Amino acid sequence: MSWMQRAACADAPAAIFFDDRALRAELRFAAAAAVCARCPVRPECLDAALPHARGRSSDTTFRASTTAAERRRIRRGTLRREDVWARWDRLALQEAT
Ligand code: SF4
Repeated sequence: MSWMQRAACADAPAAIFFDDRALRAELRFAAAAAVCARCPVRPECLDAALPHARGRSSDTTFRASTTAAERRRIRRGTLRREDVWARWDRLALQEAT
């Protein structure tokens, strides 16, 4: 079984991860973060996304509890993935209570 088959977002609306027209970005990212926070394959997902985190500032996807800008910084080594995850997980927890 590949890690993608264990993804928590398999049944989630794709729009919250990909479609920047569906919702305001902060609402979309908060909804996606709540899904990523309980995902068992977040490390694998981020590892797969990082090679694509290059200079495109128009990338509006949210993957593995990271925005595109955060993925670029993680890739450059100026941001730790654990710190980004902790911040999004806290936000997702606040939204749930
Ligand atoms: S970390 Fe998030 S985007 Fe990645 S597979 Fe899991 S739920 Fe989907």
